[in-house]
Amino acid sequence: MNMEKSKVLIVGGTGYLGKRLVKASLAVGHQTYVLHRPEIGLDIEKIQMLFSFKEQGAHLVSGSLDHHQSLVNAVKLVDVVICAISGVHLRSHQILLQLKLVDAIKEAGNVKRFLPSEFGTDPAKMENAMEPGKITFDDKMKVRKAIEEGGIPFTYVSANCFAGYFVGGLCQPAQILPSKDSVVLLGDGNPPAIYVDEDDIAMYTIKAVDDPRTLNKTLYIRPSKNILSQRQVVETWEKLIGKELNKSSISKEEFLAIIKGQGYAEQVGLIHYYHVFYDGCLANFEIGNEGVEATQLYPEINYTAVEEYLKRYL
Ligand code: NDP
Repeated sequence: MNMEKSKVLIVGGTGYLGKRLVKASLAVGHQTYVLHRPEIGLDIEKIQMLFSFKEQGAHLVSGSLDHHQSLVNAVKLVDVVICAISGVHLRSHQILLQLKLVDAIKEAGNVKRFLPSEFGTDPAKMENAMEPGKITFDDKMKVRKAIEEGGIPFTYVSANCFAGYFVGGLCQPAQILPSKDSVVLLGDGNPPAIYVDEDDIAMYTIKAVDDPRTLNKTLYIRPSKNILSQRQVVETWEKLIGKELNKSSISKEEFLAIIKGQGYAEQVGLIHYYHVFYDGCLANFEIGNEGVEATQLYPEINYTAVEEYLKRYL
């Protein structure tokens, strides 16, 4: 049996998740190609990062999302394309630019699998999401539609909550560090959500690229120890610091009223928090035939539990 690992191209490799995907791909032993966009110009941090990837064994490929042929040429070098382009309005939201990548993959014709920039809530479950937060899910679904209409084999990764954003802030919007004094609970703080260390997300994603079990499926990452309500996250932190936090709570109605007064990007983000922590949208469904669960497929990955993750803030 030919067990050679696929060659992987990472688009958006300098990003928050992208750099972890590059690291995981190299660690697993894939020939790893990273797109170097001329548009990054004099961004010295990105250039240095790209060259550090090269030192670690990655190949840098020059190509632009605005230059179709350069993308086709890049895609032709590999078997698998993973895109981690930005998709958080408060930072940058470029999800639809992936349609250009889809066109290039279609023309190149050689790609065995494409993993688009998803890595969050499953957009297929969010058709009733509230505006304006719905835009993220709608755009990700537009990319899915193009992939599927183009006959491109795919894996969608539903990674739930990035731990850095959600665990770090004890699930409170606009906070990424846990207070040792107080916390605001969203509603009763009881609906379960799911948290995943970003390095683990990258590793599960890379494990999936050559796995026939994830072909044309959604890979849900649901580490059992990390399916916790906000209250349970807070209790875990309280145990670590040996102290109870002062708790207040914000009702659904109050939360929605606060959202109305915010700017567009903030509103998008807050609606996502709303669906996760008031509706419990991450854990309120069973994985059906269209999906598989990552910790079951790859039990050898020793994922980071929320408790372990929180220790870094002590
Ligand atoms: P980043 O904001 O870190 O951006 C990633 C990369 O996107 C950049 O480094 C850049 O790559 C590329 N990029 C940005 N703008 C452009 C542009 N105009 N043209 C081409 N490329 C561009 O992304 P994240 O890592 O935060 O997000 C990646 C994915 O993860 C998204 O789908 C997002 O929705 C999701 N996410 C999920 C979260 C969760 O809690 N579940 C939280 C945060 C994100 P380069 O310069 O290398 O080409």
